[in-house]
Amino acid sequence: MVRALYPGSFDPIHNGHIDIALRAARVFDEVIVGVYDLPKKKLVFNVQERVKLAQQAFEGVTNIRVAPFSGFTVDYARQVGALVLVRGLRVFSDFEFEFRMGLANKRLAPEIETVSIMTDDRHVALSSSTVREIAELGGDVTSMVPDFVGAALKARYAELNALEK
Ligand code: ADP
Repeated sequence: MVRALYPGSFDPIHNGHIDIALRAARVFDEVIVGVYDLPKKKLVFNVQERVKLAQQAFEGVTNIRVAPFSGFTVDYARQVGALVLVRGLRVFSDFEFEFRMGLANKRLAPEIETVSIMTDDRHVALSSSTVREIAELGGDVTSMVPDFVGAALKARYAELNALEK
Protein backbone atom coordinates (compact mmCIF):
# COMPACT_ATOMS: atom_id res chain seq x y z
CA MET A 1 0.00 0.00 0.00
CA VAL A 2 1.64 3.23 -1.12
CA ARG A 3 0.20 6.43 0.23
CA ALA A 4 1.13 9.75 -1.40
CA LEU A 5 0.83 13.28 -0.10
CA TYR A 6 0.03 16.06 -2.57
CA PRO A 7 0.79 19.27 -0.67
CA GLY A 8 0.00 22.85 -1.67
CA SER A 9 -1.80 26.04 -0.76
CA PHE A 10 -4.80 25.39 -3.02
CA ASP A 11 -6.04 29.00 -2.75
CA PRO A 12 -8.29 27.99 -4.42
CA ILE A 13 -8.09 24.52 -5.92
CA HIS A 14 -8.22 24.67 -9.74
CA ASN A 15 -8.46 22.23 -12.66
CA GLY A 16 -4.66 21.85 -12.87
CA HIS A 17 -4.50 20.69 -9.24
CA ILE A 18 -7.51 18.40 -9.68
CA ASP A 19 -5.96 16.75 -12.74
CA ILE A 20 -2.67 16.07 -10.91
CA ALA A 21 -4.44 14.59 -7.85
CA LEU A 22 -6.68 12.34 -9.98
CA ARG A 23 -3.71 11.10 -12.00
CA ALA A 24 -1.72 10.47 -8.81
CA ALA A 25 -4.70 8.51 -7.48
CA ARG A 26 -4.38 6.15 -10.45
CA VAL A 27 -0.72 5.48 -9.65
CA PHE A 28 -0.79 5.34 -5.84
CA ASP A 29 -3.16 3.47 -3.56
CA GLU A 30 -4.15 6.54 -1.62
CA VAL A 31 -3.57 10.27 -2.12
CA ILE A 32 -3.87 12.81 0.65
CA VAL A 33 -4.33 16.33 -0.63
CA GLY A 34 -2.56 18.32 2.09
CA VAL A 35 -3.71 21.91 2.39
CA TYR A 36 -0.93 23.97 3.90
CA ASP A 37 -2.48 26.22 6.52
CA LEU A 38 -0.32 29.33 6.44
CA PRO A 39 1.77 29.69 3.28
CA LYS A 40 3.86 32.84 2.86
CA LYS A 41 1.28 34.16 0.44
CA LYS A 42 -1.61 36.54 0.75
CA LEU A 43 -4.61 34.23 1.08
CA VAL A 44 -8.13 34.71 -0.23
CA PHE A 45 -9.56 31.65 1.55
CA ASN A 46 -8.68 30.46 5.04
CA VAL A 47 -7.55 26.90 5.58
CA GLN A 48 -11.01 25.51 6.42
CA GLU A 49 -12.46 27.11 3.28
CA ARG A 50 -9.64 25.76 1.10
CA VAL A 51 -10.09 22.28 2.59
CA LYS A 52 -13.85 22.40 2.00
CA LEU A 53 -13.49 23.41 -1.66
CA ALA A 54 -10.89 20.67 -2.23
CA GLN A 55 -13.14 18.10 -0.52
CA GLN A 56 -15.97 19.06 -2.86
CA ALA A 57 -13.64 18.64 -5.85
CA PHE A 58 -12.89 15.02 -4.91
CA GLU A 59 -16.32 13.98 -3.70
CA GLY A 60 -16.91 10.38 -4.72
CA VAL A 61 -13.21 9.64 -5.34
CA THR A 62 -12.63 6.88 -2.83
CA ASN A 63 -8.82 6.99 -2.63
CA ILE A 64 -8.37 10.76 -2.29
CA ARG A 65 -8.84 12.54 1.01
CA VAL A 66 -8.22 16.14 1.90
CA ALA A 67 -6.73 17.40 5.16
CA PRO A 68 -5.11 20.57 6.48
CA PHE A 69 -1.54 20.57 7.75
CA SER A 70 1.01 22.93 9.24
CA GLY A 71 4.77 22.88 9.66
CA PHE A 72 7.17 20.86 7.56
CA THR A 73 5.61 18.91 4.71
CA VAL A 74 7.87 15.91 5.39
CA ASP A 75 6.83 15.84 9.05
CA TYR A 76 3.20 15.67 7.99
CA ALA A 77 4.06 12.99 5.39
CA ARG A 78 5.66 10.90 8.14
CA GLN A 79 2.73 11.49 10.44
CA VAL A 80 0.26 10.14 7.88
CA GLY A 81 2.57 7.38 6.61
CA ALA A 82 3.08 8.82 3.11
CA LEU A 83 6.16 7.54 1.29
CA VAL A 84 5.75 9.85 -1.68
CA LEU A 85 5.32 13.60 -2.16
CA VAL A 86 3.47 14.42 -5.37
CA ARG A 87 4.14 17.72 -7.09
CA GLY A 88 2.79 19.15 -10.32
CA LEU A 89 5.19 20.51 -12.93
CA ARG A 90 4.06 23.22 -15.28
CA VAL A 91 6.48 25.36 -17.22
CA PHE A 92 10.25 25.14 -17.08
CA SER A 93 10.43 27.82 -14.40
CA ASP A 94 8.67 25.46 -11.95
CA PHE A 95 11.53 23.03 -12.35
CA GLU A 96 14.22 24.92 -10.47
CA PHE A 97 11.93 25.63 -7.52
CA GLU A 98 10.63 22.05 -7.39
CA PHE A 99 14.16 20.64 -7.77
CA ARG A 100 15.46 22.73 -4.86
CA MET A 101 12.49 21.85 -2.69
CA GLY A 102 12.78 18.16 -3.59
CA LEU A 103 16.45 18.15 -2.58
CA ALA A 104 15.72 19.95 0.69
CA ASN A 105 12.93 17.50 1.53
CA LYS A 106 15.21 14.58 0.65
CA ARG A 107 17.78 15.87 3.10
CA LEU A 108 15.16 16.24 5.83
CA ALA A 109 13.50 12.88 5.11
CA PRO A 110 15.65 10.52 2.98
CA GLU A 111 13.00 7.79 3.03
CA ILE A 112 10.44 9.96 1.22
CA GLU A 113 10.51 10.30 -2.57
CA THR A 114 9.25 13.30 -4.51
CA VAL A 115 7.36 12.38 -7.68
CA SER A 116 6.61 15.19 -10.12
CA ILE A 117 3.74 14.76 -12.55
CA MET A 118 3.79 16.87 -15.69
CA THR A 119 0.77 19.06 -16.18
CA ASP A 120 -1.74 18.41 -18.91
CA ASP A 121 -1.16 20.93 -21.69
CA ARG A 122 -4.63 22.40 -21.08
CA HIS A 123 -3.46 23.55 -17.64
CA VAL A 124 0.07 24.62 -18.41
CA ALA A 125 -0.53 28.31 -17.72
CA LEU A 126 -3.00 27.83 -14.88
CA SER A 127 -2.21 28.91 -11.33
CA SER A 128 -4.28 29.92 -8.32
CA SER A 129 -2.91 33.45 -8.58
CA THR A 130 -4.10 33.75 -12.21
CA VAL A 131 -7.53 32.46 -11.20
CA ARG A 132 -7.68 34.96 -8.31
CA GLU A 133 -6.62 37.89 -10.47
CA ILE A 134 -9.23 37.13 -13.12
CA ALA A 135 -11.98 36.56 -10.53
CA GLU A 136 -11.09 39.75 -8.67
CA LEU A 137 -11.71 41.74 -11.85
CA GLY A 138 -15.01 39.94 -12.42
CA GLY A 139 -13.66 37.81 -15.29
CA ASP A 140 -14.84 34.39 -16.38
CA VAL A 141 -12.99 31.51 -14.67
CA THR A 142 -15.38 28.73 -15.72
CA SER A 143 -12.74 26.95 -17.83
CA MET A 144 -10.24 27.00 -14.94
CA VAL A 145 -12.12 25.89 -11.82
CA PRO A 146 -15.21 23.83 -10.92
CA ASP A 147 -18.43 25.86 -10.72
CA PHE A 148 -18.57 25.81 -6.91
CA VAL A 149 -15.05 27.33 -6.74
CA GLY A 150 -16.09 30.05 -9.21
CA ALA A 151 -19.13 30.80 -7.03
CA ALA A 152 -16.99 30.93 -3.86
CA LEU A 153 -14.57 33.35 -5.55
CA LYS A 154 -17.42 35.56 -6.72
CA ALA A 155 -18.89 35.69 -3.21
CA ARG A 156 -15.51 36.38 -1.58
CA TYR A 157 -14.60 39.24 -3.92
CA ALA A 158 -18.09 40.73 -3.49
CA GLU A 159 -17.47 40.72 0.30
CA LEU A 160 -13.99 42.20 -0.07
CA ASN A 161 -15.17 44.90 -2.47
CA ALA A 162 -18.04 45.81 -0.13
CA LEU A 163 -15.53 46.18 2.72
CA GLU A 164 -13.40 48.54 0.65
CA LYS A 165 -16.29 50.89 -0.01
P1 ADP B 1 -0.41 27.50 -7.27
O1 ADP B 1 -0.81 28.70 -6.50
O2 ADP B 1 0.74 27.80 -8.20
O3 ADP B 1 -1.54 26.81 -7.97
P2 ADP B 1 -0.03 25.53 -5.08
O4 ADP B 1 0.91 25.66 -3.94
O5 ADP B 1 -1.46 25.56 -4.69
O6 ADP B 1 0.30 26.59 -6.20
O7 ADP B 1 0.30 24.20 -5.90
C1 ADP B 1 0.38 22.92 -5.35
C2 ADP B 1 1.03 21.99 -6.34
O8 ADP B 1 0.26 21.96 -7.56
C3 ADP B 1 2.44 22.38 -6.79
O9 ADP B 1 3.18 21.19 -6.97
C4 ADP B 1 2.23 23.06 -8.10
O10 ADP B 1 3.36 22.97 -8.93
C5 ADP B 1 1.08 22.23 -8.66
N1 ADP B 1 0.33 22.96 -9.67
C6 ADP B 1 -0.17 24.20 -9.59
N2 ADP B 1 -0.79 24.54 -10.73
C7 ADP B 1 -0.67 23.48 -11.58
C8 ADP B 1 -1.09 23.21 -12.92
N3 ADP B 1 -1.73 24.13 -13.65
N4 ADP B 1 -0.78 22.01 -13.46
C9 ADP B 1 -0.09 21.10 -12.72
N5 ADP B 1 0.33 21.29 -11.47
C10 ADP B 1 0.05 22.46 -10.89
